[in-house]
Amino acid sequence: MSIQVFGIAVSRGVAIGRAVLVASSRIDVAHYFVATEQVASEIARLHAARDVVSAELEGLKRDMPADAPHELAALLDVHQMILHDESLTGATQVWIDERHYNAEWALSAQLEVLARQFDDMEDAYLRERKADVEQVVERLLRQLSHQAGRAAGAMASAPPARDFGGADPLVLVANDVAPADMMQFKRSVFIGFVTDVGGRTSHTAIVARSMDIPAVVGAREASRLIRQDDLIVIDGDAGVVIVNPSDIVLEEYRFRQRQIVLERARLDRLRHTPAVTLDGHAVELLANIELPADAAAALEAGAVGVGLFRSEFLFMNREGVLPGEDEQFEAYRDAVVAMRGLPVTIRTVDIGADKPLERMSAQEHRNEHGLNPALGLRAIRWSLSEPSMFRQQLRAILRASAYGKVRLLIPMVAQLAEVRAIMEAVSRVRQQLDDTAVSYGRVEVGAMIEIPAAALMIERFLRHFDFVSVGTNDLIQYTLAIDRADQAVAHLYDPWHPAVLQLLHQTIKSANAHGRGVSVCGEMAGDPAFTELLLGMGLRSFSMHPAQISSIKQRVLRADTRQLAAAVAMVLDAADPAAAAAELAASRGAR
Ligand code: PEP
Ligand code: MG
Repeated sequence: MSIQVFGIAVSRGVAIGRAVLVASSRIDVAHYFVATEQVASEIARLHAARDVVSAELEGLKRDMPADAPHELAALLDVHQMILHDESLTGATQVWIDERHYNAEWALSAQLEVLARQFDDMEDAYLRERKADVEQVVERLLRQLSHQAGRAAGAMASAPPARDFGGADPLVLVANDVAPADMMQFKRSVFIGFVTDVGGRTSHTAIVARSMDIPAVVGAREASRLIRQDDLIVIDGDAGVVIVNPSDIVLEEYRFRQRQIVLERARLDRLRHTPAVTLDGHAVELLANIELPADAAAALEAGAVGVGLFRSEFLFMNREGVLPGEDEQFEAYRDAVVAMRGLPVTIRTVDIGADKPLERMSAQEHRNEHGLNPALGLRAIRWSLSEPSMFRQQLRAILRASAYGKVRLLIPMVAQLAEVRAIMEAVSRVRQQLDDTAVSYGRVEVGAMIEIPAAALMIERFLRHFDFVSVGTNDLIQYTLAIDRADQAVAHLYDPWHPAVLQLLHQTIKSANAHGRGVSVCGEMAGDPAFTELLLGMGLRSFSMHPAQISSIKQRVLRADTRQLAAAVAMVLDAADPAAAAAELAASRGAR
């Protein structure tokens, strides 16, 4: 039966594929793909575990005291039967063979299938047998974890690209995905994803956009309603997931997919066209990246630099061992070299809130820490509380500046005392490098404006910084008191709120008036609905996911900033700024 699940649209496009439910079972296991040549040995691993568990059950039965209740022996026989039943190990083998799942993942996928079958049973006695299947699976998983091979823990390392053809593409369905795990998925085979929790600018959604694959988050019940291997359509524009669509619906979506491909090809032709408005203003379109390897996509998309390198992603998935100065330096240098002389803005770590160091989802983090981590020790607050780590990162960034144009960006600054501490740390590090004759280039220091306090005292901040970059994702979160990762309040997360627009306008105007660089690097910069308004406010530098550059460029090429500037006040005063801006784009600025 076809059903629809509604959520929040966070990454555009249409994906059609088979559902892969990750970590939806009670048992947390590693999820990775095995290469074709490893399939046989993975199946052998499963069989070996089955044989050991079988011997274990035999042993338990044999050693049972004579006066033990006979139900116990009968139960061990049932477990033995389950273990050898085709629907468990046989079907698990099929997941490994056809899907190339690792044995643990295949087992938990099959457990999911069986558990649902048991849940649907009328007979209460049979329904309760689900617990026996779970116990047998747990024994098998325990056994597998004792064998040599991959460590337990979701996505222990990057899955290799799948090297088998023919099968349908795969889409990921999960309750939540930690940002650290999203980085692994980034290099994997999924062509779309759906999560139960999350908001438009939760970091999971941001990584999905950077992957340029359709995604729906905040779909509440999705991981319960969707079953392993269901055929699903993700409509990333409407925020809808269609499970087991009818042929007509499927055909409709396949048609949409073809149109999207054509539209992208058309936009791609703008890649190397300079972004200049109709009235001759050059506009800088920069890329947001998470890892040095993303620099290639940035260049490919026609970015004229990196406006935001979220360095915290280098610090994730480290099992507690943070990257040292040299390792960080190499990563920054690689990004700088890859950008071939174009500027690279490296942001110091923004750890905390929904980007914990450990592999944890935002929800788990909240549960664990209780308090609201978005208001806690995050970003520069964390860095200043770890001064030697902070200096280590600053040294690594400065050293990379010997290889190209580097800008240093500090997240979440709100206090003048923080500004002083940052400047002291930067001068101390420069001095250390001078003393040891390590070369570095001229590095501008900038602040992210993402806390209302910083936007309100922008004039004072501009005395200390060379440039500012507005992080609208957090600016909206903190101005409106809406947790950006919480789908329960996602409907109130409103980039069009007049208070947000005013802070944004004020920041851009002040920076321009003081001759300081100003950029927007939050998600608003890559959203075409805001392009004309931001141009009208005087913004000439936008930083976004590489995949968004062409569509923003198209709007820039059609814009006349004189007309847009004259209409900004009208949008800011409008009862419905979104509608007013759409009208402005359609009738005046963009033709
Ligand atoms: C922002 O807050 O807008 C931003 C760009 O930073 P991040 O999304 O990484 O918090
Ligand atoms: Mg931010």
